Amino acid sequence: MASQRPKTILIVEDEPEIAQLVKHYLEKDGFHPCIAETGIEALKMVASEHPDLVILDLMLPEMDGLEVCKSIRQKPETALLPILMLTAKNEESDTIVGLELGADDYVTKPFSPRTLVARVKALFRRLDRTNDHKPTSLTYGPLQMDLIRHEVTVKSKEVPLTAKEFGLLEHLLRHPGRVLTRDMLLNAVWGYDYYGTTRTVDVHVRRLKVKIPFLNESIVSVKSLGYKLSDQPIL
Ligand code: CA
Repeated sequence: MASQRPKTILIVEDEPEIAQLVKHYLEKDGFHPCIAETGIEALKMVASEHPDLVILDLMLPEMDGLEVCKSIRQKPETALLPILMLTAKNEESDTIVGLELGADDYVTKPFSPRTLVARVKALFRRLDRTNDHKPTSLTYGPLQMDLIRHEVTVKSKEVPLTAKEFGLLEHLLRHPGRVLTRDMLLNAVWGYDYYGTTRTVDVHVRRLKVKIPFLNESIVSVKSLGYKLSDQPIL
């Protein structure tokens, strides 16, 4: 939509046959894939190649996929990098941890390359929908945020918010389904020169939930990382 440049996809997989197969299918579909064989190499390539998406195998030597995922999410510059995780059937509990750590989707091994490519495309589509346009208002269930008038209403009833509460809510609404770390939220809403601690974020999230009770379930706390607004409002 925004650019014609082929999207770069980093494949992190230590089994060369799988990596090559996935690479082949992605190339056939017009993507620009590259391969990393270890977690360490993956993090280096994330920094050097600036991929648009990472296909991340869970089982990797030295540093596993969960650690790679966590590390990507913790750096502000890659915190929103889409991650599709590859897991084996018997790794279901790891899959759940992976999603909690901020993977955007997962595909279970063994998979057909076509399915994987379809999931990659679906993920891009989902993200384009939320990132690409510059809206004047944001909607989430019964909640409406007017970005021009700086006004939030729930079922057409105005909810008075402080500037920081508004900023925090706006950031969550702009990235539904994504894990946002406390550092990221702090930087986005309070600015890099703010001297507060990440606890400030927790306090404001709590206040938001008090003022807008239906967000209680929809704003999910993600273990040691931060918060996520669920894709669909939980009413
Ligand atoms: Ca592997």
